[in-house]
Amino acid sequence: MLEKIKSQLLPFNAKLIAVSKKKPNSSIEELYQAGQRAFGENRVQELVEKHETLAKDIEWHMIGHLQKNKVKYIAPFVTWIHAVDSIELLDIIEKQAKKNERTINVLLQFKIAQEDSKFGIDTQALISKLNPNDYKNVRLAGVMGMATFTDNQEQIREEFKALKNIFNNLKAGHFSNSEYFKEISMGMSGDYLIALEEGATMVRIGSLLFGKRN
Ligand SMILES: *Cc1c(COP(=O)(O)O)cnc(C)c1O
Repeated sequence: MLEKIKSQLLPFNAKLIAVSKKKPNSSIEELYQAGQRAFGENRVQELVEKHETLAKDIEWHMIGHLQKNKVKYIAPFVTWIHAVDSIELLDIIEKQAKKNERTINVLLQFKIAQEDSKFGIDTQALISKLNPNDYKNVRLAGVMGMATFTDNQEQIREEFKALKNIFNNLKAGHFSNSEYFKEISMGMSGDYLIALEEGATMVRIGSLLFGKRN
């Protein structure tokens, strides 16, 4: 399955994040042996444990909702944080990254799904308060979003288009001076092919690679 997904991503030049949440180290090691290096987790404790026990050249992506008081546990090693949904969280990541003398790549999460249960920044107003120059150890690298969990392909496509639009506007406006603002993290096992067509540069795939989670 890894090879198949990689070949689907190739024409789009998109990056695969293997979402290993709730999966044992042995499953991760199997993909690691096959060459996969970018893995995603959505819980801090599980991420920390896996980082401690697995190969040190794994590139870890925190993809889930992140509580401010837990940033300190992952700041020493995490490479990407996908779901940044407030300026307060961004400021704490900056502080912790600095403390660890590291650079952490972050993506701003936007609410694109119809369902209101999803986290995300829901107004451009919030963005206008964000000054890219305030951040030295945080690299503002793009946007992230999750489509509604539905069989309606057209709805999913519209939501991905909306995220791409937000990205384009930010890139042309707020982040026009940034060489790093270029990533769009969208698409999971059920909808990544649509996400690729709509401009995803990173897809986050779990169950399709590792099998169903309990
Ligand atoms: C679990 C998860 C995924 C992967 O979901 P699958 O449907 O198993 O591919 C992607 N993104 C986030 C934020 C997740 O929590």
